[in-house]
Amino acid sequence: MVAPYDVVVLGLGGMGSAALRSLAGRGCRVLGLEQFEPGHDRGSSSGGSRMIRQAYFEGPAYVPMLVRAYEMWRAAEHDLGERLLTLTGGAFLGPPESRTVTGSLTAARHWNLPHELLDAAVISRRWPAMSPDPATVAVVEPTAGFVYPERAVVGNCRLAAAAGAEVRTGERVLCWQASAADEGVRVTTTAGSYDAGGLVVTAGPWAPQVLADLGLPLVVERQPQYWFAPDRPEYGVGRLPVFICELADGVQIYGFPDADGHGPKFGIFRLDAPPVTADTVDREVHLEEVARMRRQLAHIVPVAAAAPLAKAVTCLYTTSPDEHFVIDRHPAHPQVVLATGFSGHGFKFVPVVGEILADLVVDGTTRHDIEMFRLSRPAMAAA
Ligand SMILES: Cc1cc2nc3c(=O)[nH]c(=O)nc-3n(C[C@H](O)[C@H](O)[C@H](O)COP(=O)(O)OP(=O)(O)OC[C@H]3O[C@@H](n4cnc5c(N)ncnc54)[C@H](O)[C@@H]3O)c2cc1C
Repeated sequence: MVAPYDVVVLGLGGMGSAALRSLAGRGCRVLGLEQFEPGHDRGSSSGGSRMIRQAYFEGPAYVPMLVRAYEMWRAAEHDLGERLLTLTGGAFLGPPESRTVTGSLTAARHWNLPHELLDAAVISRRWPAMSPDPATVAVVEPTAGFVYPERAVVGNCRLAAAAGAEVRTGERVLCWQASAADEGVRVTTTAGSYDAGGLVVTAGPWAPQVLADLGLPLVVERQPQYWFAPDRPEYGVGRLPVFICELADGVQIYGFPDADGHGPKFGIFRLDAPPVTADTVDREVHLEEVARMRRQLAHIVPVAAAAPLAKAVTCLYTTSPDEHFVIDRHPAHPQVVLATGFSGHGFKFVPVVGEILADLVVDGTTRHDIEMFRLSRPAMAAA
């Protein structure tokens, strides 16, 4: 029997919406299944802004994918006729020996990316909202900035549908099964069953359930985002860069200028949070969490730290043991491809991950180097 779809994409958040678009663009008969609506706020892809940068302290090996991601973000803006990417410049601050500073410098030098190294006095002259400790330095990257996650997800679904993809929302996948001889898959949802030649699993923080057969060592973490209302022009786009600041205790806090009229946004990158599940997580942000954020922000943006809280919401990370992504074919079923474990830093890669997933499910291979993201790497066996 010929399966009615070439590929089903399970989950239309950041990664799934991009895979859907990439597959539809290649002329595949593709079905996207999403339990909520594109752009919803219960997964990992909400909160108005996501940082994008290239001097990647997480590892210089990410840089070629980032260069491709920038190209693809610009192309998607063109196709959608909407702004998806705002470049504000980025400052990556910390003590000179911190991972944030040394890692950003290593990536910038390795790939010859434009950057500057500034001391504390220059930082606060250039960006008056910032008053770093005198021992702090910053690697400054002029082409860093942010993307708009909800707009990107909705836009990807719209472009995919325009290219022929079928999108079914409000439909939860209950299970999937590989067919005999691994020629295809059957996906069963709350509304019916679908047969396809291949399956792309992009379930975000629901991946531990959807991929329960693999027993992956992933941890879903609750991570709040906070908007303050300092009501001062130096927190606007063009006056404040995106930043990550590593404090003396190694905690990294991050910030965005006012991207959406709600005020500048801040958070703690990879807050050491207890494991949760996406269906049972506490989505309320509590007063003691706001107080902790204020104490940490006081080290770098003191006026915002003391300003009224405009809004606070939770978001979910799906973290792998080494904080590198997991992008691979299913070890038992080569027609199933998965992307998970984005560990709080995946959104900037959305279009390029979509391209890689389409490559893997259609061709079985990709020109992008994904060795670091394989299921077979030692860190993924450490469960
Ligand atoms: C607070 C916070 C700040 C972040 N900041 C940055 C940043 O500045 N820069 C950056 O690059 N990254 C950042 N990230 C990380 C980035 O947003 C994530 O890596 C990315 O959004 C992951 O996308 P995803 O597609 O894997 O997950 P999601 O967008 O959550 O998508 C998964 C989708 O699958 C659907 N789904 C799951 N199970 C089923 C099912 N059974 N049936 C049907 N549908 C299903 C879900 O409803 C969801 O829509 C941040 C994340 C958070 C939480």
